[in-house]
Amino acid sequence: MSGQWEVVIGLEIHAQLATKSKIFSAASTAYGAEPNTQACLVDLGYPGVLPVLNEEVVRMAAKFGLAVNATVAPRSVFARKNYFYPDLPKGYQISQYELPIVEHGELFITDADGNEKRIGITRAHLEEDAGKSIHEGLDRYSGIDLNRAGTPLLEIVSEPDLSSAREAVAYMRKIHSIVRYLGISDGNMQEGSFRCDANVSVRPLGQEELGTRSEIKNLNSFRYVEKAINFEVERQIELIEDGGEVRQETRLYDSDKDETRSMRSKEEANDYRYFPDPDLLPVEIDATYIEAVRATLPELPDAKRRRFIDDYGLRFDDAGILTASLALSDYFEAVASATDAKAQIAANWVIGDLSAALNKDGLDIEQSNIAAADLAGLLDRIQDSTISGKIAKEVFEAMWAGEGNADDVIEARGLKQITDSSAIEDVVDRIIAANPGQVADYKAGKDKLIGFFVGQVMKETGGKANPGQVNAILKDKLS
Ligand code: ADP
Ligand code: MG
Repeated sequence: MSGQWEVVIGLEIHAQLATKSKIFSAASTAYGAEPNTQACLVDLGYPGVLPVLNEEVVRMAAKFGLAVNATVAPRSVFARKNYFYPDLPKGYQISQYELPIVEHGELFITDADGNEKRIGITRAHLEEDAGKSIHEGLDRYSGIDLNRAGTPLLEIVSEPDLSSAREAVAYMRKIHSIVRYLGISDGNMQEGSFRCDANVSVRPLGQEELGTRSEIKNLNSFRYVEKAINFEVERQIELIEDGGEVRQETRLYDSDKDETRSMRSKEEANDYRYFPDPDLLPVEIDATYIEAVRATLPELPDAKRRRFIDDYGLRFDDAGILTASLALSDYFEAVASATDAKAQIAANWVIGDLSAALNKDGLDIEQSNIAAADLAGLLDRIQDSTISGKIAKEVFEAMWAGEGNADDVIEARGLKQITDSSAIEDVVDRIIAANPGQVADYKAGKDKLIGFFVGQVMKETGGKANPGQVNAILKDKLS
């Protein structure tokens, strides 16, 4: 990308709220049921039925507002957003427009230079999801599944403060982490419970006015957000540099081809004929309610990260990785509190070997083959020199494969470290005797050969000799 362009991005994130029933009806929100078995008359848009607001969504939205340092509006209003689509039988979506429940929030991400960057949150409003059109396997017909109709969504709109695909992903991850900490959304991206529209524009560096944006709809993975934005930025820059103009339009990302395609010209707000929904009362919240919600806020990711740095002495980046997910941070804390090893060592294992194993098997931390207490047990065996860090990797693999806890594996496989100096000395003597050439070179100043000797001793002992002792004994005997 040429240097004279500045990228501007704003995200609209849709988080499905984790209520049991829908936003305006008593139908279940459970995922994966037979089509149209979880849609009641309200969701089907029958005439004459009336929506009744689910109080839980108000509480959840307020929770989010407080978590991002926003204003929770004392009065917000539901509005009808009118458009026709087969999966929207009422002919309008109930949303919030002029008076959303949350406004003027913020969060912080780490930018490419490692600095903290503030991203403004313009607003977050409550709305209902639409149904789903189904085209697959129906020959010439399309099906309509209204199970999703009326599912509560919190749409979180950012300021155009993001300057790269990387920042957009960091912001989206942060929102994801916050809604999961708050327990207001399961954040399941495969099931569409957490998705975003990315608004992307470019402008010549130094220009005040924003460029014309395109909006890429419905991105449901962090990877797609990154790829779609990068593609779109390149496309817009090339277009402008070739003398063309960016059209304000809605585009779709095709992950197979890794490109965005025009879907329709962008609608304007007045196309929707928004007006306050006469079937619903304004939502009024008083200060007592807000304070009661505030009292239920958990420790949030940024605060937890600071605590991990202060209390456990973790590195900034590691603390960030561990606190991005509530479950991962809980796991780490369980290990750190149960082991005698340093917390940073526990962090290294959780971020390194454990995360790699989970990734490889496509598991979440909640499904780990190794319980936190057992990982702590393994670290204790390194700490008390029963095994070396290197052997610990083998023990870890065996534990992962289900061979028992660290002690079981060490016992069954005979991996106990050799700490008996006379036994190590015997091996060292043999290695020295067998490699006179290297010994001469080492004595002549090739210090690096110490690695060779250590390697030979380790090979001879099956990796079980205590590395510290091996080094010391070798140095002593070679000098
Ligand atoms: P709409 O609701 O019509 O999509 P909004 O004005 O509410 O439009 O903006 C939606 C999102 O687009 C917001 O996240 C905002 O920050 C972002 N946005 C607005 N203008 C631009 C622009 N020129 N470039 C990039 N993002 C933009
Ligand atoms: Mg939009």
